[in-house]
Amino acid sequence: MFKYLILLFLSFTTLNFIGQEKIIVVIDAGHGGKDPGNLNKTKGLMVEKDLNLAISKKLGNYITEYLGHRVKVVYSRTTDVFIPLEERVAKANKMNAAYFISIHCNASDNPAVHGTETHIHNIKSKTSRELGLQIEKQFKNRAGRNSRGLKLKTDRTFNLLVLKDSKMPAILVETGFMTNKSEEAYLNSDRGQDLIASAIFRGFRDYIRIKHNIVMQNPRTSKPAVKGPVYKIQIMASTGPVSLKNPSFKAIGKPIEEMKITNSTSPYNFKYYVGNFSDKREAKKLLREIQLTSFKDAYLVKFD
Ligand SMILES: [Zn+2]
Repeated sequence: MFKYLILLFLSFTTLNFIGQEKIIVVIDAGHGGKDPGNLNKTKGLMVEKDLNLAISKKLGNYITEYLGHRVKVVYSRTTDVFIPLEERVAKANKMNAAYFISIHCNASDNPAVHGTETHIHNIKSKTSRELGLQIEKQFKNRAGRNSRGLKLKTDRTFNLLVLKDSKMPAILVETGFMTNKSEEAYLNSDRGQDLIASAIFRGFRDYIRIKHNIVMQNPRTSKPAVKGPVYKIQIMASTGPVSLKNPSFKAIGKPIEEMKITNSTSPYNFKYYVGNFSDKREAKKLLREIQLTSFKDAYLVKFD
């Protein structure tokens, strides 16, 4: 669908990444509504617009889960609606999106043709080239796909139109061929969609983590490994916020946790805690220490 690409890339010359603001990535599920994209070959399976949307949402979830502290995901559509391409681009432009990833499924007259392709607009654009290469690398190495590599439109009109744009990475990922029997089944499977989304996510992650110096968050490992109650030591309750830098807090030599309590009948809306123990004995040990040295009225609180 290159007539779409031309429009897309033309309009991306004004996009910018600004300072420490969250990096905005627009995930564009191709087609929608009255425009189904490529049709299903097997009865009962999905048409392209639906596959694109399913994969896009999975991709967005991966990005938000692992990069949400630095990256904001915006979808050009989240339902089965027709949105003209100009509108998708205008929306991305308006919010200063830094990246635009369009998700599609391919088709060929030859049913043997299969694999992934990432389309970029200009081989001289280092950013989109590197981003595209990372994604294809993930398809090949991690997802075991037949990576057909980066694709460029070399016809002259296309190049002329996109000549000015070399900074803004906008890529279009063709996630597989609906005209290939086994790839169509793969595209329609939850596991296939997961693998596609995670490969695109990994490629994007590997690219932007270096580019923007991003430290990963890992919600899966940062959650407490042990299920069950935790014990914290409450050292103070207050009607207003207390500076965490005040000397008596500092004297404890451990991080102080502030909890703001709303919907409370008590006037003490701010509570201050130390520690986070699954082992009650360990918590009691610290409690005694704190009672002896700084906050003699401190006590243990159990959180389920
Ligand atoms: Zn398409």
